Amino acid sequence: MTSPTPTARAVGAVVGSAVGDALGAPFEFGPEGAFSARFPEAGWGGEMCGGGGWDPGEATDDTQMAVLIAESLLECGGLDLPDVFRRFQRWAAAGPKDIGLQTEAVLSSGDPWDLAAALHFQSNQRAAGNGALMRAAPSAVYFALGGRETTMDAARRLAALTHGDRAAWEGTAVFHELVRVALAGDDPLTAVEATLRAVHPDHRERYATVLAPDWHPDLATEFNGAVWPCLGSAAWALRTTDGFEAAIRAAIDLGGDTDTVAAVTGGLAGAVYGIGSVPDRWAEPLHVPLPGFTDRVLRTPDLVELAGRLTAGTDGSRLTTP
Ligand SMILES: [Mg+2]
Repeated sequence: MTSPTPTARAVGAVVGSAVGDALGAPFEFGPEGAFSARFPEAGWGGEMCGGGGWDPGEATDDTQMAVLIAESLLECGGLDLPDVFRRFQRWAAAGPKDIGLQTEAVLSSGDPWDLAAALHFQSNQRAAGNGALMRAAPSAVYFALGGRETTMDAARRLAALTHGDRAAWEGTAVFHELVRVALAGDDPLTAVEATLRAVHPDHRERYATVLAPDWHPDLATEFNGAVWPCLGSAAWALRTTDGFEAAIRAAIDLGGDTDTVAAVTGGLAGAVYGIGSVPDRWAEPLHVPLPGFTDRVLRTPDLVELAGRLTAGTDGSRLTTP
């Protein structure tokens, strides 16, 4: 197999994450092994089955929020945090089919964009969910051009819009950096050590644990709706398989928060293997409703176009918010 082009990898990250989200959604909160029990053989088809309130191919809040970030970056010409927050609020107010508890509480609090997540964290002390990590594929593509420091910084700021716990920021920053490495054609798993050195010291050890080569999702100390096992499970799925389809199958088979674990896995695996590795039968029915935005529905060609524009990216000079 020839190596995917940088653009094929970027499109792979964005579409791959959306595909994982849509494939995993019907299996959310289900048991281990439910996906391969229903679809025993890879490649047979029918996996975009819908269920649990989701139409076949329908992407959930993970991808909907990811698209909102992508469109903000492109329309504002860089990171405009108040704009991203306003888009999130508008979307949340329109009643999406699913929204994370943490995210909903922050977006509907009425507090200003730069305080809402912190105030919520102050009173709840629980904000280390995977709800910022799940939506990070487009921003990881966009900020890759700026290098490690720029992309990790942008990830932290985007995560902090809804998640007050630095653990969520750092996990999102690690994902951004691993995608950056993959887009450059290198193996993100060999970049884990260097990435960990750029993680805030208070959070390094927990990420080192879940990203270690011998870590297995069975060793998780929290439900995989938490940021650490979610990221660790995505890295595990990538490490223990040899292609996009197999990685996604492994991720969904873990059970639990299947849409998000598969969305994160799909972002990484899509960046590694490129859009050519995403089965057409998965890309074809994929669609992303955008409640609150004239009820637009994006399909795969729209996501491909969006990802192409994101690859023009930023070198970090537009990172500073007004
Ligand atoms: Mg979801």
